[in-house]
Amino acid sequence: MPIATVNPANGETLKTYEPMDEDELERRLELAEATFRTYRTTSFAERARLLTKAAQLLDEDQGEIGRVVTTEMGKPIRQARAEAAKCAKAMRWYAEHAERLLADEEPAEADVRDSGASRVRVRYRPLGPVLAVMPWNFPLWQVVRFAAPALMAGNVGLLKHASNVPQTALYLEDLFHRAGFPAGCFQTLLIGSGAVDDILRDERVKAATLTGSEPAGRAVASTAGEMIKKTVLELGGSDPYIVMPSADLDRAAEVAVTARVQNNGQSCIAAKRFIVHTDVYDAFAERFVAGMRALKVGDPLAEDTEIGPLASERGRDDLAELVDGARHGGATVLCGGELPDGPGWYYPPTVLSGITREMRVHREEAFGPVATLYRADDVDEAVLIANDSAFGLSSNVWTRDETEVERFARDLEAGSVYVNGMTASHPAFPFGGVKRSGYGRELSGHGIREFCNITTVWQG
Ligand code: NAP
Repeated sequence: MPIATVNPANGETLKTYEPMDEDELERRLELAEATFRTYRTTSFAERARLLTKAAQLLDEDQGEIGRVVTTEMGKPIRQARAEAAKCAKAMRWYAEHAERLLADEEPAEADVRDSGASRVRVRYRPLGPVLAVMPWNFPLWQVVRFAAPALMAGNVGLLKHASNVPQTALYLEDLFHRAGFPAGCFQTLLIGSGAVDDILRDERVKAATLTGSEPAGRAVASTAGEMIKKTVLELGGSDPYIVMPSADLDRAAEVAVTARVQNNGQSCIAAKRFIVHTDVYDAFAERFVAGMRALKVGDPLAEDTEIGPLASERGRDDLAELVDGARHGGATVLCGGELPDGPGWYYPPTVLSGITREMRVHREEAFGPVATLYRADDVDEAVLIANDSAFGLSSNVWTRDETEVERFARDLEAGSVYVNGMTASHPAFPFGGVKRSGYGRELSGHGIREFCNITTVWQG
């Protein structure tokens, strides 16, 4: 894939970039290692000062970088600005809390004595340069979610961003530089995916985090495994959205629309499979389909657009194939499902019912505004359908019954369970999945400790 900005709203190539050559990559790796040697000794206060400055600059740049993001990957402009604001918030959160999250821990006195020590501390030390392989769908957020904690922990970052968001990738390097971080703290590597392996094998790179598809995750994790390097993987999702009879149906249906189509439907934590109790199925389906039909699809730069184009032609082809396959397999298309004429990689909000286990759309991730509806007779069946997926990222449940809440919280195979609301990450809460959605956690104290050398300091 060329490294280029191609506007998904019309298919026009706006800017192309030559990948960095070996000399340039060597220079950057060298700089990362050299910077780490001194940056690792800086105080939390100093790192917080720089990160807070980056947040301030990002707030100031919101309009400008929002337009770049929308032009590169097609999300509605208001969502692009909101993404920038969310990043600034996460930066401030880590600037404020990192020192507390990484404070030395002291084991129980009895255990210290039992080990024969006078004092024992557990200290979180940084690892070194971390490679971040990132996707285009939240091109600011995915990177900041890694970079803010990594930089606060004293690590330095090397970003290999998706090939279709090079301007956003370069903006991020510039942002951290303008904030005052030393040049080697955060660098963008303009490279294709084929060049990742060599970088990962380089001894100077200590760990890697990847957000993206399963094949990409597998490739990076295999090499990292061979090299005995720590990885965090945030992969795909096909999150269930369960609606039980006691739910506020109007609200559940309204939020369901947003949960499915946020980011033009290209979100790992979008609700994708809607599992509705049979008692409220028809009422929910009617409201949900009406909401999906009413969405305003169009130019992502227009302020009132709710759904823009998908990010790539290939992504749209893949999605259309999933829908066509389901239709041929006997699914009912309740709305959407037809490719529109005209330029741009648009796909209409689509709802499918009559889904069977054999259909690809049941097993695979629909990365676009396509929802599947399922009917469940009771909690057991809802859990069964929800867990009948290779993925386990997040999950959503609508019920006012506390017994059901506990049941779902106990049994849903996912990294989070959101009750009476849609999944949305927050800097203070751990984020990540199980099964083929990956492993490790981002955000919160769990996220910042992923790339630390957890060191036992024992004193006799
Ligand atoms: P992708 O094709 O896997 O790309 C993600 C990144 O990995 C890009 O930088 C890509 O580079 C790189 N890459 C691809 N193949 C690689 C390989 N074999 N070795 C090393 N690097 C490789 O995914 P995408 O299409 O951009 O993103 C959509 C996927 O990401 C969806 O499955 C979505 O669910 C998932 N996602 C997960 C989360 C989460 O937090 N769990 C968040 C957002 C998205 P190139 O662009 O150069 O190919």
